[in-house]
Amino acid sequence: MQIVFAASEAAPFAKTGGLADVVGALPREIAKLGHEVSVYLPLYSTVRPHLEKEPTYSVRSITIPFPHGNRFAGMVDGGDRNGVRYYFVDCPEYFDRQGLYGNNGDSYSDNAERFGLYCRAVIEATKILGVPDVFHVHDWQAALLPVLLRTVYAADAQLRQAASVLTIHNAGYQGWFPPATIDQLLLPWELFTYDKLEHYNSLNFLKGGVVYSDLITTVSPTYAEEVQTAEFGNGLDGALRQRSADLRGILNGVDYTEWDPATDGNLAGHYSPLDLSGKRDCRKDLLHAFGLEVPDTTPVIGICSRFASQKGFDLLEQIAGRLAERDVAVVALGTGEPNYEKFFRDFAFANAGRFSVQIRYDDAMAHKIEAGADVFLMPSHFEPCGLNQIYALKYGTVPVVRDTGGLKDTIEEWNPELQTGTGFKFTDYNAEALLSAIDSALAAFTVKTQWKQLMENAMAQNFSWEKPAREYAAVYEDAARKRA
Ligand code: ADP
Repeated sequence: MQIVFAASEAAPFAKTGGLADVVGALPREIAKLGHEVSVYLPLYSTVRPHLEKEPTYSVRSITIPFPHGNRFAGMVDGGDRNGVRYYFVDCPEYFDRQGLYGNNGDSYSDNAERFGLYCRAVIEATKILGVPDVFHVHDWQAALLPVLLRTVYAADAQLRQAASVLTIHNAGYQGWFPPATIDQLLLPWELFTYDKLEHYNSLNFLKGGVVYSDLITTVSPTYAEEVQTAEFGNGLDGALRQRSADLRGILNGVDYTEWDPATDGNLAGHYSPLDLSGKRDCRKDLLHAFGLEVPDTTPVIGICSRFASQKGFDLLEQIAGRLAERDVAVVALGTGEPNYEKFFRDFAFANAGRFSVQIRYDDAMAHKIEAGADVFLMPSHFEPCGLNQIYALKYGTVPVVRDTGGLKDTIEEWNPELQTGTGFKFTDYNAEALLSAIDSALAAFTVKTQWKQLMENAMAQNFSWEKPAREYAAVYEDAARKRA
């Protein structure tokens, strides 16, 4: 089959979170199964270093109509990488900016136009470069594509057979815009009804994708159930329940060519289940990078995250004082909402020498934390899949997580009698439950044989992409069949 990926992020070209890891790895795995795969991304400034100095254009100029005149986009040929063809939508006035979606926490005011143009440009380009059997679109930024296929382009014979699959990586972000966006994007007003794209008097891109895609997936089986509830659907639960027969949960894989302590180029030491000694060097290196010095008997808790309310750091804030009374060190890497950045700064300042934070995005440091910490903390309120806890398993860094979404599907509670399990979980979203899970981990850390078993159990887990890739391929077949 021919598959087109449309997404706003893909590693290594542009990344703010897990979406990029998935779109960076999945296309390659689909190609390995014998399918013909291309990926279309916006040409952000972060993409330029990955291109030739004088890039060639696969399509020189695509016309995108807007109410006050046309805009034009080129389609840059990104070449073949690992069996996948890359194309970049070149429209500098929209994409050649500092951030992907905004600056300093504020979203760009023209995001609807930016990603509206992106979706139309992808469709138009495929009419020249090859209409696929399936458009696999990701999150709200690409969710308008299936809407356009079945409305604005409904009469286009070339596109009629093309199916669409929407993957929701996070229903917390839906792309809400004012009603006038309908006119700005030259969409038909009949789309602005409650059973289509209207959502509490906003235009909702993700809802459009939910209504118009042939099939829908989310990034873990548990999250596929959760998004159909009022607590986690973020207003889309009704629309998703209506499509529940077409909604599947496929757990993300991870890319072990990037995330493996035996080969990871960012680390001070290397290790594997057969020889764990290199982890000590990684721990030392991490503590040094964070300006900390603690004895080997003090466990190090690592945090690497977007600082967003989804991630549960309000619970950490509530137990900060009591955590400081424990024999523990904490290193945290992240950026995001100013109130959480301030909490982490204050937390580190008040406990200098044992707690330390770096407020920035740093891929190499993310790897160092996975390897150098003893415990990896993710107390998320909701977590569609979560990748960091899966990386942590591979690095023998024991996860402490809330029992929700993909965290629930990937971490098994430690059972000291049976010596089974890979981490520690808490269920109720409250500070006491979090502290109790951390305390269980700290207690296990003091029993050397237990901790070694836990690390071995964790490192034995395999979340590689082969299985999920086959599941996606089955979804593509079903979507194409449905459309036919
Ligand atoms: P989400 O997609 O909700 O941000 P995931 O756990 O699925 O959460 O994926 C997060 C990805 O982003 C991981 O690859 C993680 O290492 C990376 N990441 C998050 N924050 C940072 C940061 N400050 N520096 C480096 N990498 C980060």
